[in-house]
Amino acid sequence: AIDFKWIRDNKDAVAANIKNRKSTANLDLVLELYDKMLALQKEVEQLREERNAVANKMKGKLEPSERQMLIEEGKSLKERLASLEEDLARLTDELQQEAQCIPNMSHPDVPIGEEDSSVVRKMVGSQCEFGFLVKDHLELGKELDLFDFDAAAEVSGSKFYYLKNEAVLLEMALINWTLSEVTKRGFTPLTTPEIVRSSVVEKCGFQPRAENTQVYSIVGADQCLIGTAEIPLGGLHMDSILSESSLPLKYVAHSHCFRTEAGAAGASTRGLYRVHQFSKVEMFVLCRPEDSDAYLDELIGIEEELFASLGFHFKTLDMASTDLGAPAFRKFDVEAWMPGLGRYGEISSASNCTDYQSRRLGIRFRPSSGSLSPTTNQKKGKNTPTQFVHTLNATACAVPRMIICLLENYQQEDGSVIIPDPLRPFMGGLDRIRYK
Ligand code: AMP
Repeated sequence: AIDFKWIRDNKDAVAANIKNRKSTANLDLVLELYDKMLALQKEVEQLREERNAVANKMKGKLEPSERQMLIEEGKSLKERLASLEEDLARLTDELQQEAQCIPNMSHPDVPIGEEDSSVVRKMVGSQCEFGFLVKDHLELGKELDLFDFDAAAEVSGSKFYYLKNEAVLLEMALINWTLSEVTKRGFTPLTTPEIVRSSVVEKCGFQPRAENTQVYSIVGADQCLIGTAEIPLGGLHMDSILSESSLPLKYVAHSHCFRTEAGAAGASTRGLYRVHQFSKVEMFVLCRPEDSDAYLDELIGIEEELFASLGFHFKTLDMASTDLGAPAFRKFDVEAWMPGLGRYGEISSASNCTDYQSRRLGIRFRPSSGSLSPTTNQKKGKNTPTQFVHTLNATACAVPRMIICLLENYQQEDGSVIIPDPLRPFMGGLDRIRYK
């Protein structure tokens, strides 16, 4: 249920937003298709009324010649109606396709511009000092026998990897520690399907059919591999009406993520940094519209607590308009210091998608009766219309870049790597990765 009327009534603001976000959406075409659809809908309605009128007349007493005329009129109306209904279905589909590309509106505080316009909200820790020549995670992994990229390249292709030895324990520890930390904060843990219908991917604001898509589609089936658990989590309550008292719904899910990384040529691709398959723990919240700004703060706060307790040095950024993607209204990324790579790298991202996904997925809630609506100040009752929930998503732990941070930040002069305290109980007490 994209609100086309709203888009038409706010055409200038929508156009400015499309420009600010450097989106390829074609607003003029969307509005043209919308007008055509409205006209066609009207025509279809009229024909239906005419058809019903003919059917009613047929119920009365008629001369045979009159009846014959009505039968023929009814037949011709039916044929015209069928053809117009087909046109309407095609037009509606085209409109939906085009409208999928229109991005969410942007929070008024979103910095307008390219990635370098993003604003630092918070800085935690500082770059650690090493009294020796630092290695990157690839060298460390080689010396400590933690990865096999060569075998993975043979078996799967480039940008795949085998984890080995303590790296496997580290992945499991990161997932389990994160799940337990986030569950403690009131989130319901889930694992999700990793193959989903293409329609759900689209409704979440991703474009499996685009030319340079990030999404792997399954040949011969209308299904895709998920790029993030956000998609099955978004789909979990689709086409439903939730009660206000059930909100917020807070989920934390572990899944694998699959990405084509199309268009990533030139971007940092060394080792584990940009791969086609990885494990991730994702947080997802469904809430009342008036609460979503506060939940974005809560989600970024949880991320910051987790990364700080692992001892990372990082900054949180309020992301610029061209870096928001289609669904986000506002997005905060965390970039952590990776000493071996010698730069900050994005390790997580938290987005408030407002009603962008819920409109497409059909996730509503019915305001409880008796309470006062904070937006309209009117008593909510049985007849109060349903509203769309707001959805938010945030990375709690994207494993490969966490492994990069851990190995590169905790490397020692003797070539070993210390395991930070919080993860040790999840690794059988292991405190250090050493040469075999
Ligand atoms: P996104 O869902 O694109 O916001 O990504 C969430 C997080 O997943 C990022 O902050 C990265 O830590 C991680 N990530 C995204 N893409 C990749 C990739 N191709 N390889 C490894 N990690 C990735």
